[in-house]
Amino acid sequence: MSARLIDGNKISLELRTQLKAQVAQRVEQGLSQPGLAVILVGEDPASAVYVEKKVKACEEIGFNSQKVVFPKSVSQEELIAQIEQFNKDNNIHGILVQLPLPAHIDASQVLETIRADKDVDGFHPYNIGRLTQRIPQLRPCTPFGIMIMLESCDIDVKGMNCLVVGASNIVGRPMAMELLLAGATVTICHKFTTDLAEHVSRADMLVVGVGIPHLVKGEWIKPGAIVIDVGINRLEDGSLTGDVEFEVASQKASWITPVPGGVGPMTVATLMKNTLLAAEKLDNKS
Ligand code: NAD
Repeated sequence: MSARLIDGNKISLELRTQLKAQVAQRVEQGLSQPGLAVILVGEDPASAVYVEKKVKACEEIGFNSQKVVFPKSVSQEELIAQIEQFNKDNNIHGILVQLPLPAHIDASQVLETIRADKDVDGFHPYNIGRLTQRIPQLRPCTPFGIMIMLESCDIDVKGMNCLVVGASNIVGRPMAMELLLAGATVTICHKFTTDLAEHVSRADMLVVGVGIPHLVKGEWIKPGAIVIDVGINRLEDGSLTGDVEFEVASQKASWITPVPGGVGPMTVATLMKNTLLAAEKLDNKS
């Protein structure tokens, strides 16, 4: 392997340690502990694992957390009433609804009910709009976490040809906006793209978030490119793998993220960072 590994476990631990110290300092100054409310609907095992990771991270850093679990049959009204209650609760600084939601729920309406200044996932149209207009406030966690990762490796994307593969609201689109904000020339590929290999072969950096194991072949990668793999795919043997063919890609890339241990841990740490930022902003308002 010639690429340098971008160690998400190490970088996220550094961030969480920093946040823990900041929270301890807040409490010493008589300020409140940041509070995160997490809403889970249904029994999807992957969603339950993600929620547990978030609750555990809160405990470690010194945040309060409140978890509310609704059955899959919950109504839109019940869900919205719960969010409205958290919107008013001064002990709650961040609210997140674990996605995906069941098909009968209007996810956009649910996400738009969250107060924009408590929207620590950064998915509210207000926060996406601010990122698009270069005045970011609460930024979607996965792309923001990737930017923090790049910074900690002293990678500056300004002027680079960056390719984002995947165009979801959670990963691809906000990622493209983050890279544009940082001065990169950005291309986005998605399921209707016809010449993915060619786009990949031109990219100085690529961020892949699709959900198809090994969609991006190692041999397509430009020598020296930076490869960020957001994909999390569970194989039949139970192991996790990314969207990029890691073994071959790591022979060609200059930097690469592993799966697991790359982007995943950064997403949780960035959620914690957003919750602290939300608490600090709300302090200034009260
Ligand atoms: P999604 O299904 O909402 O979006 C997938 C995107 O991939 C779509 O925009 C689609 O157009 C595109 N796509 C599909 N087939 C393609 C193809 N052949 N070529 C190019 N693009 C194609 O998924 P998502 O929620 O954005 O998640 C994507 C992956 O990232 C999943 O594996 C998910 O588990 C993972 N994920 C990881 C983290 C993390 O913290 N590491 C966070 C969120 C999502």
